[in-house]
Amino acid sequence: MCYNYPVKMSKISRIVELLDEEYGRQEWTYPERVLDELILTILSQNTTAKTCKQAFARLRERFPAWEDVRLARCSDVAEAIKVGGLANQKAPRIKQILEEVYAQQGSLDLEWLADVPDTEAVDYLLKFHGVGRKTAACTLMFALGRPVFPVDTHIHRIAIRVGLIGDVTADQAHDILQVMIAPEDVYSFHINLVTHGRQVCHAHSPECERCVINEECDYFVKRYKTE
Ligand code: SF4
Repeated sequence: MCYNYPVKMSKISRIVELLDEEYGRQEWTYPERVLDELILTILSQNTTAKTCKQAFARLRERFPAWEDVRLARCSDVAEAIKVGGLANQKAPRIKQILEEVYAQQGSLDLEWLADVPDTEAVDYLLKFHGVGRKTAACTLMFALGRPVFPVDTHIHRIAIRVGLIGDVTADQAHDILQVMIAPEDVYSFHINLVTHGRQVCHAHSPECERCVINEECDYFVKRYKTE
């Protein structure tokens, strides 16, 4: 698909403004430890925010330091995070990441990612098994406030419906959207689009009539304005 980037960028700016008016301008406020955020994001895969936080809290309670997790038996780590689901997949992934970071650096510290360019930081994180585009972007955006745009299932769906992207995969959507969103809008746009997907632009039966961005939406125009 060929993208007219200036047109798409001005469309994104209008949508950012409308969503900010509806849900408030979201500001990134405080940093988290990068490794904490990475593990939290892995725990969030295929589960709800609530159970992910519970799994993370139980993991930290059982193993107060990441070094404890690195040295623990995989079955004990899985037991600690089982509330979040897929524990038998997530526990080995987490342990493997900790082992690799430790082997590379001799310590469990990823704060140095704050000092390298965004693309370099993304590429570093993508080398870990179980870390995809969304996990890498979430880690950098939430932990460090970096303007790296994560595309989750809500954002992928809305971006296709609105007409910001074609029928591409979520991974492809990361590259396309990243270059069209102003860095200062990345955080607010991400948070507000996820909220919009949960509250209005549902996967089934989107509530287009009450949607604040319907005038910008190709799906709405095709469905309601061309009949
Ligand atoms: S108009 Fe409908 S399809 Fe388009 S973004 Fe709004 S809710 Fe989603």
